[in-house]
Amino acid sequence: MKIASTCYYILRRIFYRFPGKSYCICCERSILGFLPFRGLDSQLCSMIKEFQIIGSDVMNFECPRCGSSDRERHLLAYFECMGLKDIFSSSKILHVAPELGLSGWIQRCEPAEYVKGDLNPISDEFSRLDLQDIVWEDAYFDVVIANHVLEHVNNDDLALREIVRVLKPGGVAIVQTPYSDILEHKFEDSNVVDANTRRLLYGQEDHLRLYGRDIFEKIESYGFKSKVVFHGKALAHYDPIKFGMNENEPFMCFQKI
Ligand SMILES: [Zn+2]
Repeated sequence: MKIASTCYYILRRIFYRFPGKSYCICCERSILGFLPFRGLDSQLCSMIKEFQIIGSDVMNFECPRCGSSDRERHLLAYFECMGLKDIFSSSKILHVAPELGLSGWIQRCEPAEYVKGDLNPISDEFSRLDLQDIVWEDAYFDVVIANHVLEHVNNDDLALREIVRVLKPGGVAIVQTPYSDILEHKFEDSNVVDANTRRLLYGQEDHLRLYGRDIFEKIESYGFKSKVVFHGKALAHYDPIKFGMNENEPFMCFQKI
């Protein structure tokens, strides 16, 4: 274990120091490569492979320079290529558990209002926000972004109801979440409470469920129409290895009806 962590430390230092053929769109730097998720946790990797989970690229996960994750870089690429700058520039945006790279990009769009919400805010920059009980009024926001959040929330039914409530008609929810195409429906067992079992069943110790391939219909059923787009259509010019992204992860965008 100690040898593995030492090797990972050395790998991190090498990847940090030298430029190479990979490129991080969050920090705009050439890098030698992206670091694997948690130094390649073997239990986790086998589980992700077994369920063919779509959501993260465990081999090309972390930027050694800025620390961005593949899911952050991928969403940023979708933002840039789907023309969201124009939408964001005049919008009221709620960004749940905001990532640094995405936040910077959104702020540069100069939105009408940008609320960075977190269950446990670490500074005044963030508003305290429980996705299951959002304190804002109905139809307040034009955009809600929750990138890999739904799988952490105790009651995802409440969370989706709240997202649709605070959105204006025509507003969009961007709700990336891991799912498995080989599962028909989500798998969730409230009796599973210990961290290791959750890690083995859901892919991470703080995940509370694993969604199935009906995730898109499930979200639509709350009052959305799908605007989902896949990497091959929107980001065909982004080589997933070079840019450290999971090409199987779609842009999970939904418009309130
Ligand atoms: Zn970076």
